[in-house]
Formats: sequence, structure tokens, C-alpha cells
Amino acid sequence: MAASIRLDKVVKRYGSLDVIHGVDLAIEPGEFTVFVGPSGCGKSTLLRMIAGLEPISAGDLTIDGERMNNVPASRRGIAMVFQSYALYPHMTVYKNLAFGLETAGYKRAEIEKRVRHAARILKIEDYLQRRPKALSGGQRQRVAIGRAIVREPRIFLFDEPLSNLDAELRVQMRVEIAKLHQDLGNTMIYVTHDQVEAMTMADKIVVLRDGVVMQVGAPLDLYNAPANQFVAGFIGSPK
Ligand code: ADP
Ligand code: MG
Repeated sequence: MAASIRLDKVVKRYGSLDVIHGVDLAIEPGEFTVFVGPSGCGKSTLLRMIAGLEPISAGDLTIDGERMNNVPASRRGIAMVFQSYALYPHMTVYKNLAFGLETAGYKRAEIEKRVRHAARILKIEDYLQRRPKALSGGQRQRVAIGRAIVREPRIFLFDEPLSNLDAELRVQMRVEIAKLHQDLGNTMIYVTHDQVEAMTMADKIVVLRDGVVMQVGAPLDLYNAPANQFVAGFIGSPK
């Protein structure tokens, strides 16, 4: 279950302010793409437009060949994981994972199957009856990822999911997300302002600056042949 994503001259405007300036991008099915760039360059805005949480001001978004501009978020087959986990504090982990499926009207047995499956993948089976406040940061982030997995989306979007975690846990979770990508094979877009995350996790990196794509390429290609000084500086290429 993997999908292609295409952006053609995508623009985002807030009032008279353009924050995304005509982005073209093609993502292949099953690719792990990382959007990287400084704070405020438009990474989250791009993700939110792909997810359908924010309307596109101009241009086209196509998923698996179908124009998505006016398709509601719930019908795009996309799940998004945020930096703030936004778990329901009064619900158990099980319920946090099940809730979205219950609301969507899935049968109890199907919900249980999906929750158990996600919990097994993420190794949170022993925590299903706990509430979020009784979990560590890493466990909470796993639950947040689990909530995306149970929906069986064709595309996963991650918006700086690890930036609230300490350095050691961040390294561990990077490996786990890479493994998740290997196991599920879905198309994934991962947003970060961390060069190391981008270099170690990506099949393809998209470097953004002020709402413009500076360069797209495999990590080593960007490192060895940065298109300009900005990319070189950001990726850490030798001078
Ligand atoms: P990033 O995720 O790369 O840090 P964002 O996508 O959050 O950047 O923001 C890109 C630009 O759009 C920023 O200049 C930000 O201030 C602006 N922006 C984001 N959301 C809004 C909004 N709802 N209204 C006005 N400007 C916004
Ligand atoms: Mg952001």
C-alpha cells in the first residue's frame, strides 16, 4: 500500500503573504522523503496541504494520479504524526489507538486486530491499559505513531515527531521509524530541521528555504554536489 505524490506549482498564500512559492515535486511510491530546512521555511505548511488540513492557494496536488485539491482530509488515505503527541490523557493507550477507528465505524473485532498489530510492531503491548501520563516520552511517541498505523494509510506524514525527545531516544526512534518504513513499505514524508536526521533517514531529501525548493536529491548527492551555498551550509558539505 504505497502511493505516488505529485505537486505542480503549489502555492500557499496567507492573506497577501506568499509562504510557498510554486513548489514542484514528485515522490515515488514507497519512498522515504525528508523535507528539511530552517524554522519558518514552510515544511509544515507543505505537509498540511498534502494532508488536506490546509487548502492549496494555487497549483495541483495529485496522489496516485488523482487530483486531490478538493478531496477532504478524511478521504486522502493519509495519516499524520505530530511533534506534540496530542494523546487523549483520560483514555488508555488501547483506547487512544482504537478511538479513531470507533468513530469511523469499524467493527470491534477489526479494531482489536489492528490495535494488537500496531502495538506489536511498536512494542507497546505491555502498556495498552496505561494512560499516557504513565508513559515515557518515547512510549508516548510510539502510541502517536500507532494511531497512524491502525488507520492503514497509504501515506504517512511525520512533522518533526522526535523534536521533544532527548538525544539518545531520538537516535533510537530514528532507527525504529526507518524499520517501520521497511516493514510497511508505505510512502512516507518526514519533516525535520535536523540535518543528521535528514542524512541518515532519507531516500530523498528536499531542501527548502523561504517556501522555495533549493534542491532535491539523495543524501550523498546533496552532500557531494550541493546546488548552492545554502544547501552546502545546511547539509554540512565540506567547503
Ligand atoms: P516550518 O514548519 O518550516 O517551520 P511553517 O510551514 O510552519 O514553517 O511556516 C511557514 C511560514 O508560513 C512562516 O513564515 C509562518 O509564519 C507562516 N504561517 C504558517 N501558518 C500561518 C498562518 N496560519 N497564518 C499566517 N502565516 C502562517
Ligand atoms: Mg513546522
